[in-house]
Amino acid sequence: MQPKDTTTNEAFKGFTNTACPFLPCHTGVRGQFNCLFCYCPLIAYECPGPYKVFTDRNGTRRKDCSDCTLPHNGTRGAWTFIQKWLERPVIWDGHEQTRTYRQKPVRTKS
Ligand code: SF4
Repeated sequence: MQPKDTTTNEAFKGFTNTACPFLPCHTGVRGQFNCLFCYCPLIAYECPGPYKVFTDRNGTRRKDCSDCTLPHNGTRGAWTFIQKWLERPVIWDGHEQTRTYRQKPVRTKS
């Protein structure tokens, strides 16, 4: 088995769970729906996603990631995005999202 840094097989970067009853759990995903990061690794860290903030019944501020497709946008795209943001993770302190979320519109064939 080759280490992931040298293999040309990119299957480890994602998959689509077509048996999942929630698929598609987000709309507007670009490319193949990547389920690998179903529980986003960035939930506790700073991220560029369009999250909203709510306070749970224990008084903890949490992200509502309903509008975010970034961890699902394609096999390579989602993998690269997550790796980039985990290179230097910064703990999220509960603040509202201030970054402007820019996702290119999904192309439709005409
Ligand atoms: S907003 Fe998107 S990138 Fe950020 S934690 Fe939520 S799902 Fe992950």
